[in-house]
Amino acid sequence: MADSAKATELDAVVIGAGFSGLYMLRRLRDELGVSARVFETGDEVGGTWYWNRYPGARCDSEAYMYCFSFDKELLQEWNWSGKYPEQPEILRYLSHVADRFDLRRDIQFNTRVTAARFNEATNRWEIETDQGDHVTAQFLITGIGCLSAGQVPDIKGLDTFEGDWYHTGAWPHDGVDLKGKRVGVIGTGSSGVQSIPVIAEQAAHLTVFQRTPQFTIPARHHTVDRDYLNDVKANYDALWDKARKSAGGFPVDPSELSALEVSDEQRQAIYEAGWAEGGFKFFFGSFKDIAVDRRANDTASEFIRSKIREIVKDPATADKLVPTDHPFSSKRALIDTNYFETYNRDNVELVDIRHSPIQEITPKGIRTEDGEYELDIIVFATGFDAMTGTFFKMDIRGRNDLPLKEKWATGPKTYLGLSSHGFPNMFMITGPGSPSVLSNMPVSIEQHVEFISDFIEYLRERDISVVEADADAEEAWVAHVNEIANMTLYPLANSWYLGANIPGKPRVFMPYPGGVGAYREKCDEVAANDYDGFVLGNASEHFARVPHESARIQIP
Ligand SMILES: Cc1cc2nc3c(=O)[nH]c(=O)nc-3n(C[C@H](O)[C@H](O)[C@H](O)COP(=O)(O)OP(=O)(O)OC[C@H]3O[C@@H](n4cnc5c(N)ncnc54)[C@H](O)[C@@H]3O)c2cc1C
Repeated sequence: MADSAKATELDAVVIGAGFSGLYMLRRLRDELGVSARVFETGDEVGGTWYWNRYPGARCDSEAYMYCFSFDKELLQEWNWSGKYPEQPEILRYLSHVADRFDLRRDIQFNTRVTAARFNEATNRWEIETDQGDHVTAQFLITGIGCLSAGQVPDIKGLDTFEGDWYHTGAWPHDGVDLKGKRVGVIGTGSSGVQSIPVIAEQAAHLTVFQRTPQFTIPARHHTVDRDYLNDVKANYDALWDKARKSAGGFPVDPSELSALEVSDEQRQAIYEAGWAEGGFKFFFGSFKDIAVDRRANDTASEFIRSKIREIVKDPATADKLVPTDHPFSSKRALIDTNYFETYNRDNVELVDIRHSPIQEITPKGIRTEDGEYELDIIVFATGFDAMTGTFFKMDIRGRNDLPLKEKWATGPKTYLGLSSHGFPNMFMITGPGSPSVLSNMPVSIEQHVEFISDFIEYLRERDISVVEADADAEEAWVAHVNEIANMTLYPLANSWYLGANIPGKPRVFMPYPGGVGAYREKCDEVAANDYDGFVLGNASEHFARVPHESARIQIP
C-alpha cells in the first residue's frame, strides 16, 4: 500500500479519476513529489467513460486528439481503431494510462467525497467521504467532470412503472437486453442522438419522446488504417500546437470566410463538402461568422433543415424533426450516425412532447396528452445537471463556513474557472468560467492540470501556504465571460450551458466562450505576472495582497 493510501494528512486531495484526476495525480505525485490521493465514486478509472455505457456511446471529438498529449511515448504507442471510438475503447485507453503510470495505488475507489471544509486556523481542507474517511489536505482539487450529475426529470408515476428504466449516464455495466422489447427514449440531446439509432436496431419497437428537435451533422465514422495513424503520429507536435491555440481545441484551420460574402453556389458547395466530410469541421471549418451572426447562422441552419427534409421520408415526421426554435450550434453541437435515417424505420415512432407533453408515467408506459404509449423499458437520455450539479452534491464550505452552493446560488462565480473567492487552496479542473465543454476537453484538462501544478510548485518554492482568487478579479472575470457570451448566439437557446434543463437553476452562461487559445494566453499571462488576480499569503502573515491587472481584462 502506498504511503498516501494510509495517510490522513496529505498535501493534496483530488476528487475524480477521469481524464482530469488521472493527469492531476501524475503531475502532483510524480513531478512535484507531493503526497496526493484521489477519491473516486466508481470502482474503476475512466469517469465519463466508466459511467456512460449506453448503446451507441462514443466520443465525437476525433480520437487522435481525444487523448493525453503530455507523454510522447504514450501518444506514439496507442493506436485508435477509428475516427470516433466507442466507449469501451476509450475506457481501455484510460485504464492503460492508469497502468502505465502506476496511478491506481493512489486512487481510493468506491469512495464518494461527501464534504470538504476549509479550516481557517490551519489553512487546510478537512475532507470526509461516505466510507468514513477523514483526511486533511493543503490543496483540494476537483476533477469531478462537467457532465457527471445525471438528471432524471421529476415525472409523476415513475415509481409505479412495471418495466425497467435507466439513465444513459448510469448504464448497467453488464448491458441491457433490448431484444424483443418496446423501448421509450426520453430526450434527443447528445446521448439520445447517439443511442436512438442503435436502440432502434436492437428493440422490437422504439418510441422517441422529443421536446427539442436538434441540428445534428453526420459523423461519417470510419475505421483508420496504419498509414493514417503513422501520418498523425509523425505530425503530432504540430497538431497539438494548433489545437492548443485554436478556438475549440481541434487542429482545424478556422475559415476566414463570411457566410454572407460568398455567392449562393459557393456557400452551398462549402456546406455540402462539410456535410460529406462529417463531424465538427462543418461548424469550425465552414464560415467564421456562424456562431456570432444570426444571418450567417440562418444559412447553415437552413442547409441542415433541408437535409433533414431530404433524409426523412414522411413529411409529417420531418416537420417534427426540423429545429426552428434555436440557431444551429447555440446548443451543444451534435454529430450522429444514421440519426435522421432511423425515423424511416417501421419500428420507430416520434412523439412531439412539446405539443403533447408527458402527463405521467403509468405502470404500463408513458401517457402524454395524446394517449398512452406502452413500454417495457424507459431510457432517460435527459442529460446532466451540468457544471455545477456535481459540486452541489458535496457540502463544500470555504471561509466563514460559507457553502459553495450558497455562494453560487445565483450562478457560479469563479476566477478563470479555476478558483472561487472565499475557497482558498481549492482548484477546479474545467470549472465553470473556463472553456471546458465548449472545447475538445483533453486539451482544456491538460492546460488546467498544468496551470494548477505549476502554481502549486510556485507556492511551495516560496513557502506560501494559502492562495485565493481575489474578489475583484473574480467579478471582472464573470463579467467578461458574460460579455463574450452575449456577443454570440448561445443565449438564444434554452441549453444546459445556461442551466435551462434544470428547473429552478439560474439562467447564467457557464462555460467561457472566448476559445481555448485566447483563454490559454490569459492564463499564461496571469502565471507570468506572479499569479495576477490571486491573493497569495503565508498563514502567519495572513494575506499579502498582490497587485493585479485583472480588473482591466481585455476581450481577446
Ligand atoms: C456521453 C458523453 C460523451 C462525451 N463526448 C465527448 C467528446 O467527444 N469530446 C469531448 O471533449 N468531451 C466529451 N464529453 C465530455 C467528457 O466528460 C470529457 O471529455 C472528459 O471525459 C471529462 O473528464 P473529467 O475527468 O474532467 O470528468 P469525468 O470523466 O466526468 O470524471 C469525473 C469523475 O469524478 C467522480 N466524482 C464526481 N463527484 C465525486 C465525489 N463527490 N467523490 C468521488 N468521486 C466523484 C465521478 O464518479 C467521475 O468518475 C462527453 C461527455 C459525455 C457524458
